Amino acid sequence: MQVGNIATLGGTPVRASPVGPRGARCAMLPCTTEGSPAIVKHQVSINEFVLELSVAGPVLFGGRCRDCGNHTFPVLSGCPRCTGTDIERVPLGARGSLWGWTVQGFPPKDPPYLGSNDPQTFAPFGVGYVELPEVIVEARLTEAEPAKLAQGMPMALTVEPLFEDDAGREVVTFAFEPAA
Ligand SMILES: [Zn+2]
Repeated sequence: MQVGNIATLGGTPVRASPVGPRGARCAMLPCTTEGSPAIVKHQVSINEFVLELSVAGPVLFGGRCRDCGNHTFPVLSGCPRCTGTDIERVPLGARGSLWGWTVQGFPPKDPPYLGSNDPQTFAPFGVGYVELPEVIVEARLTEAEPAKLAQGMPMALTVEPLFEDDAGREVVTFAFEPAA
């Protein structure tokens, strides 16, 4: 199985992502409320080519080679298995199992890291490989406590807030959380 290798630092998509334009459209849902219930904070994807937000939940997209069926994450222009170039963008499964992980215990360099790297407020986060039905992807984990992570445990796709944009929207990236 091909191991996805998104251009990441600390498991977070970087500004120079080659896979598509950064998201700008508010998905309207899901939204979170913070502070006053009257204030609804809309979430937007850090990169809609990689991560789409929908009412049904977040969806990750990868590449599928039409010649040999090999999947990659993220979408690549060529197939690393057969060197074919007929690649389609396809949704990936939202559930998988934990393949390996580590914990990012210090703030990543900014740039290219897009989240807050203030040492005063930085909180360690997990980074892992999650084996989806199609491909293994590298992603942030919502759990940063090693004792609560185990190889092979079921994981589900979710989103994690990174920063607030100029329009006051919460920009999120993809992450995986332990699943029942
Ligand atoms: Zn191929």
